[in-house]
Amino acid sequence: MNFTSGKELLAICNKKNLLISEVMIEREISQFDLTKKEIFSKMDETRTVMEESIENGKKDSKLSFTGLIGGEAKMLHEYYLKYNTISGKSVLTGVINALSVMEENSKMGKIVAAPTAGSSGILPATIISTAKRFNISNQKINEALFTASAIGYIITKNATVSGAEGGCQAETGSASAMAAGALVELLGGNPTQSLSAASFTLKNVLGLVCDPVAGLVELPCAKRNALGVSNAMLSADMALAGIETKIPFDEVVEAMYRVGKKMHPDLKETAEGGIAATKTAREFEKRIFK
Ligand code: SF4
Repeated sequence: MNFTSGKELLAICNKKNLLISEVMIEREISQFDLTKKEIFSKMDETRTVMEESIENGKKDSKLSFTGLIGGEAKMLHEYYLKYNTISGKSVLTGVINALSVMEENSKMGKIVAAPTAGSSGILPATIISTAKRFNISNQKINEALFTASAIGYIITKNATVSGAEGGCQAETGSASAMAAGALVELLGGNPTQSLSAASFTLKNVLGLVCDPVAGLVELPCAKRNALGVSNAMLSADMALAGIETKIPFDEVVEAMYRVGKKMHPDLKETAEGGIAATKTAREFEKRIFK
């Protein structure tokens, strides 16, 4: 049961009346010669690392080695507990979790690259915070992570998830697309709705450049992960409401790749453009590498 595009994936889902996660699990079983139990046991390990990275990041408010990020997850958590916030529990809990994972990453802690270390906050933050809110089982979370994998797999097959190749749209954009599609399935949506949600997220960040300050995956990366959570959640809600993408997912992925190819090298992880080239970013760079 193999697929390399959203169109092929939807055709299998529709023909066999399967969810995206079920198709992906079957694919994993056949590709890697593992049993379903073994596949789920591996996903259990992955989910556990995701959960631990969320908790560990929140535990301390120390700055990263460079001092560029740190303590922001705790700060937002305290704000959320104290005030009647604008974004509310769902979004803010996810955002706090994403900042936590990115803080853990900056301290060289263990994270799951989903699909990359630079975008590792979005998927766990979105899925785990929502699952907790709706009291959804670990089994269902694991299944949603397979849905996310299927979307990430299609993007890697037809475009890229690398900031160095396609800009931040390819990295945090893909993570948000994976999270949005998985979130839809987690909350009972169908495969078409999952790919609609994934399309909304990618379209929203088309053209987003990769511009890490001092070449380090901290600034603006952590905040882009935080905002990637809201991108995924709102996209999933739109899809679950029945709003459909007018441009098919595969064409959105192709567009993202084309845009990435046209981006100047200064805007693809070289730290020569965008936010990385601002006066203040250059001062940070000098301080860090002096
Ligand atoms: S700015 Fe670049 S390094 Fe940072 S998250 Fe985006 S793609 Fe990754």
